[in-house]
Amino acid sequence: MTHQSNKDIHIPIYPYLSKVGQSHKYIDSFELDQISFGQALYIFDANPQYEIALTNTGDAILVQGKITAIAKTSCVRCLDEIQIPINGNVEGYFFLNQNANIKDLKEDEYGFVDSKNTICINDNLYAAITYELPFTPLCNQDCKGLCQYCGCDLNKTACDCVQKIAEKKENEINPNSPFAVLKDYKFDDDD
Ligand SMILES: [Zn+2]
Ligand SMILES: [Zn+2]
Repeated sequence: MTHQSNKDIHIPIYPYLSKVGQSHKYIDSFELDQISFGQALYIFDANPQYEIALTNTGDAILVQGKITAIAKTSCVRCLDEIQIPINGNVEGYFFLNQNANIKDLKEDEYGFVDSKNTICINDNLYAAITYELPFTPLCNQDCKGLCQYCGCDLNKTACDCVQKIAEKKENEINPNSPFAVLKDYKFDDDD
């Protein structure tokens, strides 16, 4: 996963989250231009909006909330533009103590409050969005895609390219076909 964001979001734990049990809500927008994920590039014309609650649990700062966005991309089959509404869950757990017991946790399940007493939630916001993105974006599960020979959109037009090519192949393979004799025949151009 690669992504482009204009700046990191650092939330200070003082003064609102300095005591055990304290909780504070943040509503803001996440400056994000694009995310490259799976087979596609997702463009964000408007910054995703997040609404999160931070709580001091004694051990850590717990982050819980939502992020909403519209991700724009192209159908991998027909290349039509599609818009994917994102409604992701933001989650995070930032230990207050650098020596916290993290034995049973995976690396992407926690973070630490940094030396400036802030937490950086960018990775949590990216994860919440990316989790909602399809690996292979399609305008429709039944999208027929583009004709590989003439390039027409098979959802909107019908072409006979596949049929023509099948016939041509058949003629090439079968030397007894009545069309086979025509293959090397030089047609007279001047009528
Ligand atoms: Zn499509
Ligand atoms: Zn075609």
